[in-house]
Amino acid sequence: MDEEAWRKCSTCKNPIAHSIVFYECSVSTCNRKRLPLFFCSVECWDAHVPMMRHRDAWAIEKTSPSKSDVARETEAADAAAKKKEAPRRIVTEAATNGDVPQDVLIIASKLKSYIKARSGMNTSDGVMRALSDHVRQICNEAIRNAARDDRKTVLDRDVAKVARSGPPGG
Ligand SMILES: [Zn+2]
Ligand SMILES: [Zn+2]
Repeated sequence: MDEEAWRKCSTCKNPIAHSIVFYECSVSTCNRKRLPLFFCSVECWDAHVPMMRHRDAWAIEKTSPSKSDVARETEAADAAAKKKEAPRRIVTEAATNGDVPQDVLIIASKLKSYIKARSGMNTSDGVMRALSDHVRQICNEAIRNAARDDRKTVLDRDVAKVARSGPPGG
């Protein structure tokens, strides 16, 4: 095919140039996206009518796109394809609160000795569970911060951000 051509005539196979008058068929089955028909002249359109057994059809005069039109369309299609390749990660409540372990995350002996050293007080075992819930909330928020930055790794700064603003719901 001639490099200057836009399409080929579906009947005579002659090239149809850019920015030139060509003809389409009025029948929708002749304009399917996968295999649309293009005609360089009304004569060529006429020739396909008996072949396709059209009853009520006419030729539609159109103008082929210019070279820059085609380039722009290709660019837009490329950009759309690229967007599809890298979907944004969106972390939902279900993803963060769904089927995840709800274990105690605090090392009881370490925490108890910290509180003892700091204050001389004892620590109830329930504190471990309450603190674990607290840590999970902070983690959920940190996960959202990482997702917002399009990262797959939660960093210490994601946690620091939560600590500064305070975990959601107090
Ligand atoms: Zn033709
Ligand atoms: Zn047709």
